[in-house]
Amino acid sequence: MTKNVLRFAPSPTGRLHIGNIRTAVLNWLFARQTGGKFILRLDDTDRERSREEFVTAIREDLHWLGLGWDREERQTARISRYDAAAERLEAVGRLYPCYETEDELERRRKLQRARGLPPIYDRAALALAPDERRRLEREGRRPHWRFRLDNSDAAHGAAPVPTLVDWADLVRGDQAIDVGSLSDPVVRREDGTYLYTFTSVVDDIDMSVTHVVRGEDHVTNTAVQLQIFDALGADRPRFAHHSLLVAADGSALSKRLGALSIESLRAEGLEPQAVVCLAALLGTSDAIEVHSDLAPVIAGFAFDKISRAPGRFDHSELLQLNARLLAKLSFAEVADRLAANGVGGGAAFWEATRANCTVLGDAARWWRVATGPVAPVIEMRDFIEKAAALLPPEPWDGETWRAWTQAVKEATGAKGRALFHPLRLALTGLDAGPELARLLPFIGRERAKARLAGKTA
Ligand code: GLU
Repeated sequence: MTKNVLRFAPSPTGRLHIGNIRTAVLNWLFARQTGGKFILRLDDTDRERSREEFVTAIREDLHWLGLGWDREERQTARISRYDAAAERLEAVGRLYPCYETEDELERRRKLQRARGLPPIYDRAALALAPDERRRLEREGRRPHWRFRLDNSDAAHGAAPVPTLVDWADLVRGDQAIDVGSLSDPVVRREDGTYLYTFTSVVDDIDMSVTHVVRGEDHVTNTAVQLQIFDALGADRPRFAHHSLLVAADGSALSKRLGALSIESLRAEGLEPQAVVCLAALLGTSDAIEVHSDLAPVIAGFAFDKISRAPGRFDHSELLQLNARLLAKLSFAEVADRLAANGVGGGAAFWEATRANCTVLGDAARWWRVATGPVAPVIEMRDFIEKAAALLPPEPWDGETWRAWTQAVKEATGAKGRALFHPLRLALTGLDAGPELARLLPFIGRERAKARLAGKTA
């Protein structure tokens, strides 16, 4: 059996965000599940917009997410392959040079619209005789090149005839896209650079890509690209187009993508597994759960679980997932990062506070609550004074809180919230937080006494 070959093909024109990471994750999961290969392909033929810093950032983001790749390719390193494929298409009459300027094309489109015709490129350049081409080139015109679609001759002024390109999409089911009213796409610009529609196909053929998994914004491209596969005499890969993410309120995510870059999610202190699990499970029929080891997510992946409806991305859901993940992480898994954050107290402190951390950095906040300085909030001064007088002698352990509050209860008659809440406010200055039974030993008797006396300690 041939190995599956998947690829994630970002253009290095910006930072990766939750939307394109979803594409990366789905490709990666399927490759890992089936023992296939996962290629990182940098679609960097747009010289003006591609930047080396984004190439570096893409690699870093994928590394951080744990989405390792087996092979890396860059389109700018493959120009000779595109030249060779272009020659082959030209030889079979599927690629032709055009000399119109953008203004000329716009004028023609206006005329077509005025006549009630769709503004399809009229293939005028196909009719140019060799000496006419030479004359245009002598005038200083340089050609751009179009791929000749196989779609009847609607372009010659007749009403377009539907020309369906079909494929069985692994997510969307049977697809039939009409290319009858599309213009022959430009696949090479005047400056000789190639466009993605074409380069992607050449790459997918050369790299034996078996599955193209990408967003549904590419569905029309797919129809065109399938014709390029056919024209080059190559086997078609399978296609899977997933829906795009929208914001929780259903609006487009595009406005917020800066804040949803992997870089900013990372800066926020989120765990990579939370981001990957959300990206993997959002918009699928599986419940969204977080795993520190992705094996169950890999095993559970299936194209037919991916919904056709847009996935709703909710940042607060990501935070909740992160909190759920932290609550499961052992001390050993976070010890280094806790130390780097200045958090002491070993496993006992982590276990005392992890359920109260949304991001790992919150542990440092709890460490400051334990070790001070904390400005206490004293409500019910008399009660607090009585409680202070009852503080047990050290050493303190996990039992101290229960013994102490039992004594306070007996002495004051307070119970439930009336007993615990004023003590929490005085000891931590906060309304809520980790279980005091576990936190108290880290506060220690001296600091507890000072705080109960209303002093910052
Ligand atoms: N560079 C293209 C994009 O980012 C790749 C699409 C594809 O996967 O073919 O949209």
